[in-house]
Amino acid sequence: MKHSNHARYMDKLRAALNRTVAITNGKGGVGKTTLAASIGGLAAAAGYRVLMIDLDPQGNLGEDFGYIDGGADDAGEGLTISLISSAPLSVTIKDARPNLDVICGGERLDDLGGAMQARSHKGTDSTLILAKSLAPIADNYDLIIIDTPPANALLQNLALGAARWAVIPTKADAASIRGLAKIAQRIDSVRDQNPTLEVVGVVLFDVSSSATRVRAGAAANIEQMLDGAVPLFPTTVRSSQAVAREARDKGLLVHELAERVEGAKPFWESLRAGERPERLPGSAPALAADYVALVDSILQRIAELETGTDVA
Ligand code: ADP
Ligand code: MG
Repeated sequence: MKHSNHARYMDKLRAALNRTVAITNGKGGVGKTTLAASIGGLAAAAGYRVLMIDLDPQGNLGEDFGYIDGGADDAGEGLTISLISSAPLSVTIKDARPNLDVICGGERLDDLGGAMQARSHKGTDSTLILAKSLAPIADNYDLIIIDTPPANALLQNLALGAARWAVIPTKADAASIRGLAKIAQRIDSVRDQNPTLEVVGVVLFDVSSSATRVRAGAAANIEQMLDGAVPLFPTTVRSSQAVAREARDKGLLVHELAERVEGAKPFWESLRAGERPERLPGSAPALAADYVALVDSILQRIAELETGTDVA
């Protein structure tokens, strides 16, 4: 009897989290935060109610959304307290964008390690503590995106314990591709706690747009590495450091920067009006188009996996 109550509880927990996506990779600098921000931002712009959770002590998500200096960012304090006390999460920044709320991360998340160690001495596994604190508020959202840190096993496990879906960004170089094996192992290691976790796919990030051959080689290597178990998204994110830097500096998502570029007055018109034209990198729309296509395929793939119409 006790067992079936537990099973029912776990079913409910998993059902509540069925639209929770972790953006994960054990390596840093592979586009996790950038991708998390663009997926959430574009889905919100398309009308999804989105919750972003920053599970990284570095708190980089705040730079991409531009809330980092706004005073609302609590450096992960609220999130940390909720997790330690097993309380429902509360939103840190409501409407960071229309339809999009944020639970901030940051350095306070480093306090979790000690608290969880004490707990594991008592024999309680911590893998599901985020899942349990997130479930009570998950129904308010159509999509929950978790950004994860590179090197923190505890926080990565919490993300994977809560997520129904994992999206893995990687660069195309050999070291990054080898790193995929690690994240595959980590995913396997939480499966007994979270049997519903599925990898939606791998996203190639920072791809030089002319390097078709490199891309094909990387694709072959990745598919070999993953043993065909996980698809590589055909849409890649092109390399464009100037746009990425400009967007982060301005606290805008790439598609928001692109909208500004497209809405900007032509250069000559500004000059004639005696204004200094705003200098914006022209490749923002192209990069934004990559994200639009990618988000589309990620959401479509999730929908296919949900309805079992998956053919891969
Ligand atoms: P992670 O979260 O995995 O550490 P980030 O999303 O922070 O990775 O991105 C790592 C770096 O890549 C950042 O400095 C960011 O500015 C840069 N970057 C973002 N988008 C692009 C891009 N399209 N091309 C090249 N560099 C990019
Ligand atoms: Mg990051």
